[in-house]
Amino acid sequence: MNEVETKNDRNSQVFAFRTPILVVAETLTALTCYKDGYIMVNKSFSKPKEVLLLGGGHSNLQVLHQLARIDPSLFNLTLISDVLCAPYSGMIPSYLAGVYSEAELHFDLQKICDRFSFKFIEDKVTFIDSLRNQIHTATGKIIGYDICSINLGILPTLIPATQGPQKDIIYLKPISKLIERWKQTSQLAGASANGLSFTVIGGGAGAFEVAIACRRKFRSLDNKIRMIAGKGGLLPEYNRTAQKYARQSLKDLNIDLLVGVRVEHIESTSLLLDDTRHLDKQICFVGTSAQAPEVFRHSGLPVSKDGFVTVDENLLVSGLKNIFAAGDCCFFLPRPLPKAGVFAVRQGPVLAANITALILNQSALTKYFPQSPFLTILVSGDNKAIAAYKNFVFQGRWAWRLKDYIDRKFMKRFQ
Ligand SMILES: Cc1cc2nc3c(=O)[nH]c(=O)nc-3n(C[C@H](O)[C@H](O)[C@H](O)COP(=O)(O)OP(=O)(O)OC[C@H]3O[C@@H](n4cnc5c(N)ncnc54)[C@H](O)[C@@H]3O)c2cc1C
Repeated sequence: MNEVETKNDRNSQVFAFRTPILVVAETLTALTCYKDGYIMVNKSFSKPKEVLLLGGGHSNLQVLHQLARIDPSLFNLTLISDVLCAPYSGMIPSYLAGVYSEAELHFDLQKICDRFSFKFIEDKVTFIDSLRNQIHTATGKIIGYDICSINLGILPTLIPATQGPQKDIIYLKPISKLIERWKQTSQLAGASANGLSFTVIGGGAGAFEVAIACRRKFRSLDNKIRMIAGKGGLLPEYNRTAQKYARQSLKDLNIDLLVGVRVEHIESTSLLLDDTRHLDKQICFVGTSAQAPEVFRHSGLPVSKDGFVTVDENLLVSGLKNIFAAGDCCFFLPRPLPKAGVFAVRQGPVLAANITALILNQSALTKYFPQSPFLTILVSGDNKAIAAYKNFVFQGRWAWRLKDYIDRKFMKRFQ
């Protein structure tokens, strides 16, 4: 049977720690409504707001930390995530290469919620009912909210594949599932007598970094590594200098690069290209275009033509007053943004400020101004990275050090 969840435990705990004077003062303030000679409790005072965070992505993670600073008697917070631990995207390539440990790269969502006395539910959100202010989950829970924040990331666009266990096809998105798949592959590759071959499908930044990480992890030239960069070529969103550095880095690490072809079908031992060629394949990473979580269309939320939930400059879902969305899962109406963790990270404080405003019944919301231009740093080899900012592109050890510093600092702050 479905249940509507309410959360009073944390509130009653907080209440128990208040001083008697504070309790008397609060009671006097609360008992302010009179009707037919009876004293009525002012409900808007007595009822804490229910704040529901959907997904433990880069933005909601910051909301947890910011809301921990607010008077806990004013709200109850619940985080629903389909994973217990969420990875930080910036560190994934170096984790794959064996530089960072699994613990260094993950946020333990349950632990963070416990620390702040927030509620954590491991479950998948399947429906957002914005009319009734409720969400539904895969295990049949129905949970009510006053304020909701969506940070669900994106899903891969699947390439048609021959039916089978498909252990050897690893989609880079969602990143929360990538690590588990990589661990299985590493074991497979470790156990294999002959070197396994790896194909990375996609020409973007994530695919490039994964191809580099494969070589750093599997150094033997028996492990053939190839990247298929499609019609857009290598790093289509970067300038020529960055593309030149990236091409050279692949060459230095004996990674083959194919451009201008699309993979049409993944067969059990080969890849069918759109020019009718078949290429042999073993382990295959797919980092091509991604799509919006299905939950938005099911829920009838306002979406862009690609199905991403649309938000205004305050990160409020279009036309709604109490649902926010941030990160890859949303389409920022004032101007389209690339799907990159840097935006999800920068949206975090704005999201937290606006949720706080609603908790405090304040009407003025904070606007989000996307950073433009923004710095990107791509790992391009051992202790080496390509840094791109505006038209400036540099490659070297210091770029890698800077990336390592920024990423570790972020982890230290929020882990
Ligand atoms: C290999 C690789 C390297 C990258 N490196 C960089 C980089 O260096 N810099 C950069 O800016 N970007 C990078 N990116 C892009 C970056 O990963 C994404 O832009 C970023 O993760 C988006 O953050 P998010 O908070 O929107 O979503 P996510 O980080 O994907 O978080 C969404 C969360 O929601 C959970 N979730 C999803 N659906 C549900 C559901 N129905 N119910 C409950 N929970 C759910 C997921 O498990 C996940 O924890 C990289 C991507 C890849 C693949």
